[in-house]
Amino acid sequence: MKAAVFYGKHDLRVTEIDVLPPADNQVRIQVKFCGVCGTDIHIYEGEPGAAPVVPPTVIGHEFSGVVSAVGRQVTRFRPGDRVAADPNDMCGECYYCRNGMANFCENGIGIGTTCDGGFAEFVTVREKQVYPIPDHLSFEAASQAETLSCCLNGIDLCQIRAGQSVLIIGAGPIGLLMLQLARMSGAGKIIVSEIVPEKRALALKYGANIVVDPAGEDLYAVLAANTPNVVCVIECAGTIPTIAQAIRSAGKGATVMMFGLTAPDAETPIQPYDIFKRQLKLTSSFINPYTFERAVEILALGKVKVDEIITDIVPLPEINKVFNDSAYRRRGKVLIRI
Ligand SMILES: [Zn+2]
Ligand SMILES: [Zn+2]
Repeated sequence: MKAAVFYGKHDLRVTEIDVLPPADNQVRIQVKFCGVCGTDIHIYEGEPGAAPVVPPTVIGHEFSGVVSAVGRQVTRFRPGDRVAADPNDMCGECYYCRNGMANFCENGIGIGTTCDGGFAEFVTVREKQVYPIPDHLSFEAASQAETLSCCLNGIDLCQIRAGQSVLIIGAGPIGLLMLQLARMSGAGKIIVSEIVPEKRALALKYGANIVVDPAGEDLYAVLAANTPNVVCVIECAGTIPTIAQAIRSAGKGATVMMFGLTAPDAETPIQPYDIFKRQLKLTSSFINPYTFERAVEILALGKVKVDEIITDIVPLPEINKVFNDSAYRRRGKVLIRI
């Protein structure tokens, strides 16, 4: 089969590799679409700490497809079933798994990081990682169940209550998903700060009440004029200036969700007295524990839309151009068609 194999920094090759039969408890999926994630870019750039990848490995972890073969112990799936899969396969036995924190599993397997993933014609995963998708849900949208499941963990931690004001910084794919989840969670006024005009327009379409261009407008003045208290700030840009902006924008008792991934060695100063005076909760969100089922359900119900978040679909043989040309990522979510 054809697969995009990561051999090391800036070395991703589309090549022929063997198709393996599924083990007894595994399902083999013929991949339809696999999204390019920021994590994949970090891996390609050889950045340490992004994900533990030992080359050669087929990367890609946001995939959907059709079951092509099942192992002997598999009971819930048959060839032909339409599915998505959670790439974070946890052991269920370590301290963290047994204490409700499976995202910190000590023996976790990452499909597309620690073992072969979805930028390939076939990917093999354990049955417990596989979720059926309904016929009306497109494979394109279903590939984003993984992204949405990570956002769900983040939004859960924000504990938004009905009517509260929320600020979202950055309206890329993650920001636009967070915006829709904040709306679903009952947020009152949602303000979105984003420098790209097209993304601001999408934010308005997806339920933002106010959009701000932080390059041309005074974000803090807009907030002061429109809400008595920003109760939750969701940072989705992952840069030091926007994290500082997120902390400064937060109201009293607010949660600052630092969802955007910064460089592993990035540092930012905080003023503890300032955190104290506003009783801020600074937090973050690590992968997608127990949220994949809900992500599929939300997509199936059409409560979160991803069609316009997906800006480019590129065939597998041309995958390298996505990694080499940052213009793709700036537009939005790129899917690889297998
Ligand atoms: Zn991802
Ligand atoms: Zn575990």
